[in-house]
Amino acid sequence: MSKQKLIAFITGANRGIGFETARELAEQGVHVIIGSRDARLGDAAVKKLREKNLLADYLLFDVNSSADHKAAAHYFTEKFGQLDILVNNAGIMIDVKDASGARENNASTISPDLVRKTFETNFFSVVSLTQTLLPLIKKSTQGRIVNLSSILGSQALHADPNSPIYDSKLFAYNASKTALNAFTIHLAHELRNTNIKVNSAHPGWVKTDMGGQAAPMEVADGGKTSALLALLPNDGPSGGFFHLSDRLPW
Ligand code: NDP
Repeated sequence: MSKQKLIAFITGANRGIGFETARELAEQGVHVIIGSRDARLGDAAVKKLREKNLLADYLLFDVNSSADHKAAAHYFTEKFGQLDILVNNAGIMIDVKDASGARENNASTISPDLVRKTFETNFFSVVSLTQTLLPLIKKSTQGRIVNLSSILGSQALHADPNSPIYDSKLFAYNASKTALNAFTIHLAHELRNTNIKVNSAHPGWVKTDMGGQAAPMEVADGGKTSALLALLPNDGPSGGFFHLSDRLPW
């Protein structure tokens, strides 16, 4: 894939895996647009990249705001006329504990509002934003869409008592990532005869605010899978679920 003058939009890129993805892509010559719902944090993230002479701007962007989706389409239309890479990175894991400190994320007891809230950010906003920006991505000769899923979205692994995630049953978060994986498969199928590739990424268990300090992977490595999928060659895969170059089961 030619890395010259590619334009990438990464949502939730002011910190964590999103920021590292922006850094990885910018270091490979991509002009990155950092989505941040806080102007100060977006500006600080851009400054960190520009200090390394990397090409970066930020866009004030809340994934749950349809007005922001329209504003993003306007921004990319006016400024670049197209979009090459969309990394749907922003995500939430709402951790609710009961009085004893036990997690309230069981399918039998979780509040439906918490499920809805999680799906709003992790699933519905991705569907909506991708649909809004797709006409611009279709203008690219090498469009790439990367959906930040998680190994916790794998139904196959959740159903397998021998899998390492068998007991990690955080219902709202896991189900939202399973739904996101379905979006990847359906959209990739629909776009199979175009230049656009759509894939789901599991970044690894990464030391971020979400991943926590017990995670084995350093944050500096957290953007590697997303960057790899964002810069896939034209004969690369579409409709897959990957950690680095390894395929994960759905
Ligand atoms: P963090 O919690 O560290 O960062 C989340 C980012 O998403 C922040 O920039 C945050 O912005 C942004 N965000 C959240 N809600 C919104 C919103 N409504 N609009 C715009 N931005 C928003 O998470 P990670 O970096 O760890 O995770 C990034 C992605 O990777 C997520 O989708 C997550 O599910 C996935 N993932 C992470 C793993 C891990 O081990 N860390 C493992 C597997 C998957 P703000 O600063 O304003 O809150």
